[in-house]
Amino acid sequence: MASVKPQCITVLGSTGSIGVNTLDVIARHRDRFDVFALTANTQVEKMLAQCEQFKPVYAVMQDPTAASVLEKELKKSGSATQVLSGLADLEAVAADTKVDTVMAAIVGAAGLLPTLAAVKAGKKVLLANKESLVMAGSLFMAAVRDANAVLLPIDSEHNAMFQCLPTGYNAGLPMASVRKLLLTGSGGPFRQWSLQQIQQATPAQACNHPNWSMGQKISVDSATLMNKGLELIEACWLFDVTPESIDVLIHPQSIIHSMVEYDDGSVLAQMGNPDMRTPIAHALAWPNRVESGVDSLSLLDVARLDFEPAKHDAFPCLGLSMSAAKQGMGMPTVLNAANEVAVAAFLRSEIGFTDIARIIEHTMQSINTWEPDSIESVLELDVAARKIALEQYTVNQTHA
Ligand code: NAD
Ligand code: MG
Repeated sequence: MASVKPQCITVLGSTGSIGVNTLDVIARHRDRFDVFALTANTQVEKMLAQCEQFKPVYAVMQDPTAASVLEKELKKSGSATQVLSGLADLEAVAADTKVDTVMAAIVGAAGLLPTLAAVKAGKKVLLANKESLVMAGSLFMAAVRDANAVLLPIDSEHNAMFQCLPTGYNAGLPMASVRKLLLTGSGGPFRQWSLQQIQQATPAQACNHPNWSMGQKISVDSATLMNKGLELIEACWLFDVTPESIDVLIHPQSIIHSMVEYDDGSVLAQMGNPDMRTPIAHALAWPNRVESGVDSLSLLDVARLDFEPAKHDAFPCLGLSMSAAKQGMGMPTVLNAANEVAVAAFLRSEIGFTDIARIIEHTMQSINTWEPDSIESVLELDVAARKIALEQYTVNQTHA
């Protein structure tokens, strides 16, 4: 049998939780996947170990100091990997003609431009960086269509929906015979906490997710339910649906990763152990399937699957996201920017857990927003929203 040419891959954000899981799957199939470039922000040690194992052509560190340390270390070990640095190089390794597939796993708004560079170059883009779609949904999806890029969701819920939708269904197509999407979420670590307990929540408690092991920012987003809100907006863009056709359902076991309900009443669910290597392997090998390293699901051990509604009073971020999705007019960009500012402040213990929603709400109410018609305009709105969010919490600090 003739051997198939391996897919040439760039992993944006390779030192993060999704990046590490991606490399774990790739390591199981070295005959199928070649690593072209790995990228990170500052984590030199992890990047050094990844370069030694995967021997990429390029390693890009966003931070120039980290880049020069990495370069010295790689030289010492006689590595052929070339070290680059900065945004332009992140974009270049995402768009290089030798690359087939890009894993977009940078966290937050920092992922927008490199991910978009991969899209514009018509790559197969595996989208973990949900923030880029929340920030710039309509422009992002237009770029996917214009460049004929293949966009595959990595977020477990969207990957589940993608798997439950008709074969060959791709992002942006109008819904065929589908009544609604059922977006499931675990409810996060504070699902059963009282309002009083939630007010006292610490960063360590917020990052201690019951089912998933993830980066800090998305862990806090899961605790506030902002993650579910961002995912709702993400699903609207990926599957071309309105917020009204998506139901959010809390499912504490995280075994059903989401569902699609058809016009005839059939509900298709995708299940599996909560391990990101399943959606990653699915998207890497799509439309085929490969071993991911994930254990078989034992439904006998799981024993029961529970469902409950989301508690909007305890977790106002979900309602704020729904409202941003319905308003449009750049409001999702504002929501995302304010959330990033507030979550970073919370992680530095500069504000309390419930201040996150307060800051976002205030920013959404006080900004004079607009509908961005270009990526520059998205970035302008992002900066304007960050400024308001930051003022809100520094003002409060001065008054404290
Ligand atoms: P993480 O914090 O573990 O890793 C983030 C990666 O981005 C790191 O490699 C870091 O070096 C890089 N990075 C951070 N700031 C950067 C910057 N300014 N410039 C360039 N690179 C930068 O995050 P994660 O949990 O792996 O999440 C990554 C993305 O995937 C997020 O958008 C998240 O919402 C999404 N996601 C994650 C999971 C999960 O299980 N972790 C699940 C679904 C979706
Ligand atoms: Mg998710």
